[in-house]
Amino acid sequence: MAKQIASKVEALVPALLNWFQSNARSLPWRRTRDPYAIWISEIMLQQTQVKTVIPYWRRWMRELPTVQSLAGARREKVLKLWEGLGYYTRAKNLQKAARMIVDRHGGRFPEKYDDLVALPGIGRYTAGAVLSIAFNQPAPVLDGNVIRVLTRLFGIAENPREKKTGATLWGLAEMLVRQAAPPPHPVPLPLRGGEGARRAGEGEVRGLNARPKLEVETAREPTCSHFNQALMELGATICTPRQPECSLCPVRKHCIAFRENRVADLPNLDQQAALTERRFVAFVAESRGRFPVRQRPAGVVNAHLWEFPNVEVSLDHRDIRQLAERLFGARPRSLKPLLRIRHSITRYRITLDVFRAEFADGLPRTIQAGRWCSLNQLRNRAFPSAHGKILKNLATEAERRSSDKPCQPTCQPHGLRPARLPVSPADSAIAIEKECPRRCGRIVPR
Ligand code: SF4
Repeated sequence: MAKQIASKVEALVPALLNWFQSNARSLPWRRTRDPYAIWISEIMLQQTQVKTVIPYWRRWMRELPTVQSLAGARREKVLKLWEGLGYYTRAKNLQKAARMIVDRHGGRFPEKYDDLVALPGIGRYTAGAVLSIAFNQPAPVLDGNVIRVLTRLFGIAENPREKKTGATLWGLAEMLVRQAAPPPHPVPLPLRGGEGARRAGEGEVRGLNARPKLEVETAREPTCSHFNQALMELGATICTPRQPECSLCPVRKHCIAFRENRVADLPNLDQQAALTERRFVAFVAESRGRFPVRQRPAGVVNAHLWEFPNVEVSLDHRDIRQLAERLFGARPRSLKPLLRIRHSITRYRITLDVFRAEFADGLPRTIQAGRWCSLNQLRNRAFPSAHGKILKNLATEAERRSSDKPCQPTCQPHGLRPARLPVSPADSAIAIEKECPRRCGRIVPR
């Protein structure tokens, strides 16, 4: 059995490396070997899909390009850059770890496994990913994609979440990446292409689809890096959870699940825990262009992020007015539904009903741990994604209102907005004029 596994490992490695060479997606973090940039991408990719991560990663690297800049950044800035990705503890851990790298390692990214896993937010997977991808070390990785590929390739029917099966999978991942490692004393090949070309090949993986043909690369091929990425790439693009494209798979002939028609059964994961429904009601109150918001305290989910005043209620709660009174200490004059947001966090399916509340004069300006902020001030604060949608809604509304300016100066006394005339491309000179809705007879150029 051990022999069979060893010969399968030997066959899988070159097949996957060759496939990756011509099929790797061109992703921005694949054009660098900077461990900091790779670490950021790995933590972000634990949150969500590649296409969502790309703009976040680019913005982050523009704003905080080094471990030192992350260590020295304001927490509010770090949270703002992470806003929308969820699991904000990960962003806070990134900064804590960056500070430790600066303090304990002189700002140099650790290259040893033990040093890496001693940092907050870095576990076995992330350490393996950074060590292999950035430093080309034979460190294994095992994430959801790799688990799926390995259980299918090796026909592992046991639940991967069980300790013993997990250990088997880590063992296989390690055998594979060790097999991909270059020999301990590679023979350096003579350089071709000049010193300038050699430098260009260093420090970046380069477009994997358009690699320069320098002989030096044959000796220095980052095979551990490429192999681990190949495993993950296969799981992300071909060996997907549903309807994998086995006909395109480079290792199909080695795949036990394919041969035994068990692809749909593997990996054998537990049924997901049933989702629990929860409902919250949030309020948008406005006074002289300012909105009350509050900061979530330390030690709770989404700690330190900002939110509109809200309260959790039973699913069938009806008395919204009484909720507003409880939160603001004043009875609202009017309440209008603004929007309903549905989202899921871990095993909770959450409905957030948002109301616009108007109060008569004398609305108390105190709200627990809260501040009154203008729209611009709100834009600079970090919100959890559901509350970020409320802010977006307010910003869109404000934009619409400002593009709909009153017909000043001539109709100012009426204080009314002008009606829009239909726009005719053929008669644009007239189309850009507006008529006062009070029909005062004035046509006002915009
Ligand atoms: S043959 Fe199909 S199931 Fe097996 S590894 Fe390839 S894509 Fe996955």
